Amino acid sequence: MSAATVEINDAIFCQAHLKEVCKECDYDGREENDGFYGFDFMDREGIEAPLSSTTKDGEYQCKKHGSTTCNQCYGWKKQITRARAAAKKAGKKSS
Ligand SMILES: [Zn+2]
Ligand SMILES: [Zn+2]
Repeated sequence: MSAATVEINDAIFCQAHLKEVCKECDYDGREENDGFYGFDFMDREGIEAPLSSTTKDGEYQCKKHGSTTCNQCYGWKKQITRARAAAKKAGKKSS
């Protein structure tokens, strides 16, 4: 995997677009992020970081609240849990 990545509040995203799954960068960080939060990997929608800027130290902070550990904008565990639930639901429907 050659895409440049960044870490935002413990989750990994492609650096160019702040996406967990990015076609343009040929990057997929779902397995790594799922693993970090103690989940088994599953096929789900990728999460995406909201508008962010970098601090003087190069850390990402959300534009809305100016926080590098924002629970609302960077609440990845919640977002991943939601994406997993949606994927499970969709899987049930199609089978
Ligand atoms: Zn990208
Ligand atoms: Zn925020």
